[in-house]
Amino acid sequence: MTGTIVVCGAGTMGRGIALVGATAGIRTVLFDLDPQALRMAMEYARQRLARSPGENRTAEEAVALLHPTTDIHACIGDVVIEAIAEDVGLKRSLFNRLAEINHSDTVFTTNTSSLSVTEIAAGVQHPGRVCGMHFFNPAPVMRLVEVVKARDTRRETVLTIMELARAMGKTPVICDDSPGFIVNRVARQYYLESLRIVANGATDLVTADELMESCGFKMGPFRLMDLIGNDINFAVSSSLYEALG
Ligand code: NAD
Repeated sequence: MTGTIVVCGAGTMGRGIALVGATAGIRTVLFDLDPQALRMAMEYARQRLARSPGENRTAEEAVALLHPTTDIHACIGDVVIEAIAEDVGLKRSLFNRLAEINHSDTVFTTNTSSLSVTEIAAGVQHPGRVCGMHFFNPAPVMRLVEVVKARDTRRETVLTIMELARAMGKTPVICDDSPGFIVNRVARQYYLESLRIVANGATDLVTADELMESCGFKMGPFRLMDLIGNDINFAVSSSLYEALG
């Protein structure tokens, strides 16, 4: 059973993943270089935990499970969940710095949406202990987690992350390390064709959203792109284009 998780990056995804950890009763270190991001993440967590603190604990007890920090030396845990910028070099260097200060069983997971987990792992000291743990946005709401098995990922690493995802109340699915994994590959058409239809003047974006929502989609493509962040969505689209053409 995972004792402590270290969530790196307190932005859109990291703050949600940390909240999921605390709600599940797991001690959660939340690391970011930007103190303002940490303050906003803690405010977000306090508001959400006040409404739903998780089973058998008060909101104060749940908040006390969260340990925000800008100090990398405080990032000691059983599992690292990285949700920083979508950049292979940054992710590798963070894992290598954390590997130096953590014990030899610590598992390193990346929440990357589109980068190759194998490529990230190839640049770190212990590639067998690296895999993808891909949460969806908003992390507290979306149940699916893609557990991405990279070329060198050890079986025990995958099993640890499957167990952790379940303990966090999620539904984990194992997938291979292929571009966009499963969901982002399928969903690419949702975003890109919608952009093309509007760019071609076939409809406007408000109508496109209304139409898809009336078909049963929870969010139309443009509302969803705003939620994801257009910078992240563009990075994912570019990386799938480069990988698949
Ligand atoms: P974000 O820009 O909202 O947050 C990133 C955070 O990381 C920022 O607070 C930044 O200060 C911090 N950061 C950057 N470099 C750092 C470093 N070296 N050390 C510590 N902190 C650092 O980004 P996001 O949307 O949360 O995306 C994070 C990751 O999650 C990306 O890999 C992205 O592809 C993935 N992801 C995003 C979504 C989404 O819908 N936004 C969904 C699934 C996965």
